[in-house]
Amino acid sequence: MRQLTLVGPGKLEWWDVPERRLEGPEEALVRPLAAGRCDFDVTMIQGHPLFPAPFAFGHECVGEVTAVGEAVRRIQVGDLVVVPFQISCGTCAACRMQISAGCTAHTPKALYGHTTRGLFGVDAPWGGALSDSVRIPHADAMLTRADPRLDPAQLASLSDNLSDAWRCVGPYAHRYSDLSVLIVAGRSASIGLYAVHIARALGVAQVDYFDTDSKRLDHAAALGANPLSGPLPERLGSHRVTVNTSGLQEGLACALRSTAPGGVCTSTIVVGGGDAAIPLQEMYLKNVTLKTGFINAASEIPVVLDLIERGVLQPERVTTTLAAWEDAAEAFLEEGSKVIVKRA
Ligand SMILES: [Zn+2]
Ligand SMILES: [Zn+2]
Repeated sequence: MRQLTLVGPGKLEWWDVPERRLEGPEEALVRPLAAGRCDFDVTMIQGHPLFPAPFAFGHECVGEVTAVGEAVRRIQVGDLVVVPFQISCGTCAACRMQISAGCTAHTPKALYGHTTRGLFGVDAPWGGALSDSVRIPHADAMLTRADPRLDPAQLASLSDNLSDAWRCVGPYAHRYSDLSVLIVAGRSASIGLYAVHIARALGVAQVDYFDTDSKRLDHAAALGANPLSGPLPERLGSHRVTVNTSGLQEGLACALRSTAPGGVCTSTIVVGGGDAAIPLQEMYLKNVTLKTGFINAASEIPVVLDLIERGVLQPERVTTTLAAWEDAAEAFLEEGSKVIVKRA
């Protein structure tokens, strides 16, 4: 079968690799129909010492089930399914509490599309999403069935970035009567724009979007945000919900200072490559909550998929490049916030 492989900085190639097979009764095989470029893929494509090439690439996809093991009950051959980027078992203590990112049945942070020797010591025998076949070790626990009438290109980023954006704003949309949202955007390009779209689609009237990239600012404005640019200030107003996708320590600090009393700030990204100074005293005095870390993809995906199936969300409004599956090696190198590839 063919598998898109990152072979070095800025270089992706299609490799012929052995066909994947079911290796246990709980497993399924999925043939991806559409795949997305995660914001973090951009960093890995550029070449990063923590992610030495070569490795099978991609961890956002939706596809058709082609085989299931004898113990699989909920998923059937032919289903259209969203594949979460993380591996999770569904039965360990963490999974039972919907903390699928903390699954203890596999190497911590096990996921698709990563080097076997990289960050977190991840053991990644799982291959990448840009393959003719993806092995799902716990089909019933991991896969979410989607309405087959939907366009797979709409669903590709549910695996990671779109669901990540949802957790930043979705749970709070109806908690505060005076909700306004601030997004301090940047390196996680698509998550920031998805967060704008989700907030506006859920009825948030004021969504302020700070960025230094003029194209993303225009895109955010088209999605209904109030675009803010210039040098990053210490604070940008006062909002019950703030989001940091900038990758900058000062971006996180600005988002935290701009969080209103009792509000929540979510940082979807490691800032400054390590630990960050945060305005803890101000946070304490204002009862501000900071959330960060990996999303629990298997747990979040059904909630976001429901919003797409009901027509509340149109994730394609964030896509900047929609290319043919066969052109993924070139398309994934393109600039722009969100690249999606789709089979004919
Ligand atoms: Zn990702
Ligand atoms: Zn588990």
